[in-house]
Amino acid sequence: MKTNAEFDVAIIGAGAAGLQLLYEYVQSSSLDPIRILLVDSGDRAEKSWCFWQGAAPIFPGLIEKKWDQLAFIDAQGIERKSAIDPLHYHYISSERFYRYFFEEFIPANPSIQVVQGYAKEVKVSDDGRFEIMMADGESYVANQVADSRNNPKVGEHEPGLYQHFYGKFIRTDSPVFDGQVAMLMDFSLAQTESHFTCFHYLLPFSETYALLETTVFSTRGYELEKYQEIWETYWDSKYGAQVYQLDKEEMGTIPMSIFTSPLEQNGIKSIGTAAGQVKASTGYAFTRMNQDAKNIVENKSRRKPSRFRFYDRMLLSIIRSDTAKIPMVMSRLFAAVPMPQILTFLDEKSNLFQEVQIFCKLPIGLFLKHAWKHFISVK
Ligand SMILES: Cc1cc2nc3c(=O)[nH]c(=O)nc-3n(C[C@H](O)[C@H](O)[C@H](O)COP(=O)(O)OP(=O)(O)OC[C@H]3O[C@@H](n4cnc5c(N)ncnc54)[C@H](O)[C@@H]3O)c2cc1C
Repeated sequence: MKTNAEFDVAIIGAGAAGLQLLYEYVQSSSLDPIRILLVDSGDRAEKSWCFWQGAAPIFPGLIEKKWDQLAFIDAQGIERKSAIDPLHYHYISSERFYRYFFEEFIPANPSIQVVQGYAKEVKVSDDGRFEIMMADGESYVANQVADSRNNPKVGEHEPGLYQHFYGKFIRTDSPVFDGQVAMLMDFSLAQTESHFTCFHYLLPFSETYALLETTVFSTRGYELEKYQEIWETYWDSKYGAQVYQLDKEEMGTIPMSIFTSPLEQNGIKSIGTAAGQVKASTGYAFTRMNQDAKNIVENKSRRKPSRFRFYDRMLLSIIRSDTAKIPMVMSRLFAAVPMPQILTFLDEKSNLFQEVQIFCKLPIGLFLKHAWKHFISVK
């Protein structure tokens, strides 16, 4: 085994979390660059990252599209469209994000060394430094380690609940989309399965180009053929005879799990999905990982208020055992609460008073039933 040069920081995983942390470390040490090791196995799937922020979003140069309005359609087909001022809904493709980092940012910063390969294990040595053991027998020494490898504990507390996606980037000959409005959830297609709730998500990049996704909250594994069938049924119901050309497909699964393991073990920091940064009830994580990266670099607390985990837990419990009620819960939410307020709540930036106001507009009996179930189970 060969032990290689020493680094100030080692980041395992060059995904959304690892690269945002890399960025923050480089920004914070621009006057006196630190030596950073970035290890990645190359197992990156293509993704579309959306997030909402105000006038000064993160990575403004990488944002490919932004929408100022969002829409929601309930099970009866009633559409609610709303401006989200002062927020905007932003889109960054993983392709562009990775290209920027690997072709511009990393080459411009010689203090970063990239190693392609599998990190197998991280050992803590007696002097408090870390040794990253690679599958090919190489090893690297660093003073700090941030690790985004899969954590088997994610999913442990909420077994078997997933958000599955099946999407298509499509092009039409004639204009069919409203390029100004992104559709967060459309429940208008009748639910056909008892074991999952399904809705549609639309990102219209122009009047003739869009990403349309069938999204499913399910207790089962990925059911590709079923989702493809639902996608086509939705397309026919919405756009009828419109012919489309398929550009590419996008598929993925996010475990909807409440994460309670430590963010740091033996001095090794977990980051990204492995650190529970994906919000269990929504699947959004991009800006959460960004804030977490800033907190790590500035040595601030990474903990979030625990009441949001409790809210997520109630919603997940409803999704799992009262699945059929999800379209009604969402309809009540979007009918009664202004969209910017919903986004602030989902970002976990609301205050307790605003949260009470939101819950008062929801089917409170249903939430109390699931809150009670939670208290009984933790007793
Ligand atoms: C289909 C899909 C769509 C999503 N859309 C959104 C969205 O719109 N908005 C949002 O906020 N969030 C979204 N998310 C959630 C979340 O933002 C992404 O999953 C995000 O990519 C997670 O970042 P990560 O760094 O934890 O993992 P990844 O981005 O998957 O990165 C992990 C990295 O670790 C590397 N790696 C793994 N094991 C090893 C090893 N042993 N050694 C070395 N390297 C290793 C991999 O090669 C990979 O590069 C989406 C998730 C999915 C699945």
